[in-house]
Amino acid sequence: MAAAVRRAAGMRPLLSVRSGRSMSCCSWRWRSSSAQERARQYTVGKKIHGFTVNQVTPVPDLFLTAVKLNHDNTGAQHLHVARDDPNNLFSVQFRTTPLNSTGVPHILEHVVLCGSEKYQCRDPFFKMLTRSLATFMNAFTANDYTMYPFSTQNSKDFQNLLSVYLDAVFFPCLRELDFWQEGWRLEHEIPDDPGSPLIFKGVVFNEMKGVFANNENLYAQHLQNKLLPEHTYSVISGGDPLHIPKLTWEELKNFHATHYHPSNARFFTYGDLPLEQHLQQIQDEALCKFRKIEPGTSVPKQSRWSEPRECHVNCGPDSMAPDPAKQTIYSVSFLLGDITDNFEAFTLNLLSSLLVSGPNSPFYKALIDAQIGTDFAPVVGYDGSTREACFTIGLQGIAEQDIKVVKEIIAKVIDEVIENGFEQERIEALLHKIEIQLKHQTTNFGLALASYIAANWNHDGDPVEMLQISENMARFKQSLEDNPHFLQDKVKHYFKENPHQLSLSMSPDESYLKNQAQLEKEKLQEKVNSLSMEEKKEIYKKGLELIAAQSRPQDASSLPALKVSDIQQTFPLTPVEMTYIDEVPVQYCSQPTNGVVYFKAFTNLNTLPEDLKPYVPLFCNVITRMGCGNLDYRKQDQQIELKTGGMSASPKILQDNDNLDMYEQGVLFTSHCLERNLPDMMHLWTDIFNNPHFDDEEHLRVLVMMAAQELSNGIPESGHLYAAVRAGKTLTAAGRLQEMFNGISQVQHMKRIAEKPELLTVLRKLPRIKMHLLSNENMRCAVNATSQAIPEVSTEVEKFIRNIPGFGKKKKDKKLIRTNITEKPLNPEDAGSEVSGGSQATKKIVFSSFKACQMKTHFQLPFPVNYVSECVRTVPYMNPDFPSLLVLARLLTSKFLHREIREKGGAYGGGAMLSHNGLFTFYSYRDPNSIDTMSVFRRSVDWAKAGKFTQEDIDEAKLSVFSTVDAPVAPSNRGLDRFLLGISDEMKQKHREQLFAVDHDRLVGAANKYLTTGHSTWGAAILGPENESIARDPTWVQR
Ligand SMILES: [Zn+2]
Repeated sequence: MAAAVRRAAGMRPLLSVRSGRSMSCCSWRWRSSSAQERARQYTVGKKIHGFTVNQVTPVPDLFLTAVKLNHDNTGAQHLHVARDDPNNLFSVQFRTTPLNSTGVPHILEHVVLCGSEKYQCRDPFFKMLTRSLATFMNAFTANDYTMYPFSTQNSKDFQNLLSVYLDAVFFPCLRELDFWQEGWRLEHEIPDDPGSPLIFKGVVFNEMKGVFANNENLYAQHLQNKLLPEHTYSVISGGDPLHIPKLTWEELKNFHATHYHPSNARFFTYGDLPLEQHLQQIQDEALCKFRKIEPGTSVPKQSRWSEPRECHVNCGPDSMAPDPAKQTIYSVSFLLGDITDNFEAFTLNLLSSLLVSGPNSPFYKALIDAQIGTDFAPVVGYDGSTREACFTIGLQGIAEQDIKVVKEIIAKVIDEVIENGFEQERIEALLHKIEIQLKHQTTNFGLALASYIAANWNHDGDPVEMLQISENMARFKQSLEDNPHFLQDKVKHYFKENPHQLSLSMSPDESYLKNQAQLEKEKLQEKVNSLSMEEKKEIYKKGLELIAAQSRPQDASSLPALKVSDIQQTFPLTPVEMTYIDEVPVQYCSQPTNGVVYFKAFTNLNTLPEDLKPYVPLFCNVITRMGCGNLDYRKQDQQIELKTGGMSASPKILQDNDNLDMYEQGVLFTSHCLERNLPDMMHLWTDIFNNPHFDDEEHLRVLVMMAAQELSNGIPESGHLYAAVRAGKTLTAAGRLQEMFNGISQVQHMKRIAEKPELLTVLRKLPRIKMHLLSNENMRCAVNATSQAIPEVSTEVEKFIRNIPGFGKKKKDKKLIRTNITEKPLNPEDAGSEVSGGSQATKKIVFSSFKACQMKTHFQLPFPVNYVSECVRTVPYMNPDFPSLLVLARLLTSKFLHREIREKGGAYGGGAMLSHNGLFTFYSYRDPNSIDTMSVFRRSVDWAKAGKFTQEDIDEAKLSVFSTVDAPVAPSNRGLDRFLLGISDEMKQKHREQLFAVDHDRLVGAANKYLTTGHSTWGAAILGPENESIARDPTWVQR
């Protein structure tokens, strides 16, 4: 929402964000008797269900009214944000401030969701995923708080989920078995073989090994621990894998008793549902059973240093690093003020943006343009996630001997800023950015708010003050007026004259991973040696007990659930209007966009020579960042910041809805701006299409290094996606291109470019790509704006289309360049009717009779965990079996794969999904197993084929599918499916009806027809450490 939104550095979700469940939501509703109006009726002092209102504040800029309450008997705090948004959110957060690195708050976060007094069954949290239409469910452990949020658009669902969440956090069972499963345990490698060695297992144990396999996380953790070495910030709240095995079940239970108490809780509700009902339920189901305590969880201020400190740490080498000789990270961090001082935090946040954001900022100019490293350090800028904020500046991808140079540059820039201040235009651009971010609507506004205020509120700051962004902006402007040196004085105070600063460097050590493994082995040995024969027998017994418990059918009947009949039979339609500027189709979708205009354009790549294709992602990355018209790249960036909310390009491969051998290939250009700035934004696009600059090799190198670094850093977070894209490479033609654009091939391609001593040859490719791509010949556009704005928008869009290359050439005169291109009507309503020359708009689609074949690839990477994926070629979106496969994927995930891969296997996540590309994908995430997980995939198919599931299981899977299908779409993106994929509302309705009709027979049929093994339609890929059994197996390709 505002520039100030930043995620807590150490925040860890329970569910991997990409676990196959969509997490989006929120739409805008204008109603006469609004939630806001109702909220404004409350008066201070009013008593509601055990709570007392103590503040009511309208915040017109955000269209909300905030109501603050306190619970009389326990002191629990409640903030309600009334807003006419049907995507209601609940969250409860506890201040959790551990003093050791056993990961106790993190393990507790997992274990409380494993069963509670009222909901005894194991794992109610995961079971609710399929009994609800939640638009979001998760739990997070941050540095100093633990948060449990959910959101839904359905009021009955809200009550159901609230009941489960309240019971989970206040009355959890905290069973020993769950502690072993989620935390850590000693167990035989093969649990039912007492001859196999004892090893450490546990979900959090493996999760944290995965977290620290990422050097960015490792660096951020060291930084916080060393800059704030006194209290809770000196330990690892998520858990250090070497310390996790020290935690006992008793300690876990004690931590719950002292921290998960209403007196230490902050409740947050958001949306258009009535507050009274929430309060009553919270009071009746939880708070009425407690009395006030003194939780004593507050964090003291860090005592200030009198001298700066320096520190060096090691990490594992990164085999994908752009330059293996330059893998050092170095930064300087400064401890700032208390985050509960809202205006100071707001100011420092803005100051940070001025210092480090974009090519016009002084640190970018001095550090990035100097090409000493690949990018800023993994932690950069303002971080308000701890009680006292910090600011960090530095570089990654540098040579160790350059540390001194970087240090000197940082000091020099600080001096220069104190001397010269900032350009007025950059300050204006920043304030504009806040303005547009306030107006731009996202689908998860409630969650964004909850995260935005969490850290401040956690330390007893005033969350409502934080929401009053306009007031803060006005005060900021006034401060600048009163004192032109306002910002310079801050820089002097917080950076120049601040002795509490830490210089931290981290560089790879070849033996690091081996040492870590050795340390773990020693811990293990120590534990095992101390065991008596009795205890060993006990461990064996417990291992079997755990498997038995995991395998036992669960009675989830105590859990509330929505029914399939609670799902709407129809869905809100999104009317669009199609017009043509001569032959260029423009889709208009009028939406309550709050005065923002969204402009998108898609152009295809059909004429692009094959040898240029691998460069398309790079082209997209740089095309809005190299300068255009008479603007160099700095001025262009300034203009984009001043006039727009962002302009970008990305490669797209759009699978055809009817045929898996057909797809559209192209680039999507995306942008938005305030209505008043539309002419400026379209002017920028015109300059980019007509006259992009491709002459600055040095600047290209900067962008290439950053892109390569970012890709390499992203692998540990998205390893399962890379594995899935690779597994699909040999199954469809679109899959092959997908791997080229978004797979490991692209990471390697960018690494090779980054290693080149000169980039002139690469630079020369860019204008060649431009010729094929930046024209209106095969273009279509889409606009989302308010209906009042559309007439003016259409004038501007027309001007743009007429002023870029390609216009005026008659389509009829041109032959399709390649024989494997075919045409289809652009309007889905016209499908089926004949395509006749020129009267209908068409899209040009690649048609290739692709021969799918099996390929299994192992990418050996220095990770302690695996990412495993298998893909099966199935059917396109419009095939009547597609809905069955969608439901089947959810069914396999919730009823089989989750249990086998996460609960038993100890992986962070695992499941199956089907995307629009027609590839049915099995995956695991941060998985200690590899080949075993693939056999779990196969067994899940056997399970489905045997039809061992009930009608209730099917209904749950359907609910879960619909929670994605009906997830709200932001006004900016409505009509996008139609624009890009040609999916009309009619097709969606048909698809919806087919989803409702999926039954037992169809599911078993689909499993038999598509997922039977031994076919050439399966591909597999694993990213992970050296693996002997794969190495011995000649059917695997090793990379
Ligand atoms: Zn976790």
